[in-house]
Amino acid sequence: MKGRTKSKFWRVKCACGNEQNIFAAASTAVTCLVCNIPLTQSRGGVSQLTDKATLVKTLE
Ligand SMILES: [Zn+2]
Repeated sequence: MKGRTKSKFWRVKCACGNEQNIFAAASTAVTCLVCNIPLTQSRGGVSQLTDKATLVKTLE
């Protein structure tokens, strides 16, 4: 059953080339494990990718 769940993970690619899985509903900014730049920022409780991060795919 599909609902408006926020329990999704994103696979994102950083500008430095690192790929990592992040929790899309994280309430705090997620940073790259390699170069430490922010990959997401939280706006109104919703995570948004920064311009340094590219969404590779959404993981259910
Ligand atoms: Zn990086």
